[in-house]
Amino acid sequence: MPRKKTAVITGSTSGIGLAIAKAFAAEQWRVIVNSFTDAPQDHAIARSLAEEHAAEVAYVQADMSRSEDCRTLVAIAAEKFGSVDVLVNNAGIQHVAPVEEFPPQMWDAIIAINLTSAFHTTSAAIPLMKKLGWGRIINIASAHGLVASPFKSAYVAAKHGVLGMTKTVALEVATSGITCNAICPGYVLTPLVEAQIPDQMKAHDMDREAVIREVMLRKQPTKQFITVEQVAATALFLCSDAAAQINGTHVSIDGGWTAE
Ligand code: NAD
Repeated sequence: MPRKKTAVITGSTSGIGLAIAKAFAAEQWRVIVNSFTDAPQDHAIARSLAEEHAAEVAYVQADMSRSEDCRTLVAIAAEKFGSVDVLVNNAGIQHVAPVEEFPPQMWDAIIAINLTSAFHTTSAAIPLMKKLGWGRIINIASAHGLVASPFKSAYVAAKHGVLGMTKTVALEVATSGITCNAICPGYVLTPLVEAQIPDQMKAHDMDREAVIREVMLRKQPTKQFITVEQVAATALFLCSDAAAQINGTHVSIDGGWTAE
């Protein structure tokens, strides 16, 4: 029987990360679920994924704003399950404000969690993947890694950075059986997006429905939110043999947003 592979998914107690954890558990991968908290419900998420899919799933608390935690997460995963085959850098936060009012501590937090954490986890995971002669690094970037929107200076800067890092890492690992790619979703209706609706209402002086219609879905030619399952399925595909030669690029799932 082939060895079960391990997928580490940062920020996976909610939204896209949780859907990716579910998709991998459903395919019988060993899965590390992560967030920065250590609440009973975090452990319950891992337990319920394990029970639902008869899979090995563990919760590991690690704060992706802290460099040491990022590296420790990878080390604990390897210790628990014997390897780190897939790393999905998914943890992310958002803050919406004009640049002249953007709180400096929010800038720092967004760059740390959305960009720098991926550097630390990737740096820690590559030696383990090189030993295996196989690995997949998937960075959950964003349409905002390709184009900008007003009031999101830190997020857009971080996601553009993620795409730059994706290409660089891909070149460095290309002969080691490892690939590094990014997924660039448009708007997915997760808690992260829900939370920015009030700020967008304030920034644009619009009601909720107008923000969804005229700020968010205005960008997406299909006029529909992306689903978390669509992003998760793409992550799984990037780990398949069919995707072995996809390296150093991004897959857009944005209903055509960045085609304009
Ligand atoms: P979400 O808020 O639903 O989930 C974010 C996850 O990250 C949660 O599990 C949260 O606990 C975790 N997290 C936050 N801070 C953390 C920290 N310091 N350490 C560890 N974990 C932390 O958000 P989401 O919409 O699912 O976003 C996931 C990723 O997808 C992010 O990188 C986001 O930028 C990206 N993305 C989201 C959308 C969208 O429309 N929702 C679009 C494009 C890209």
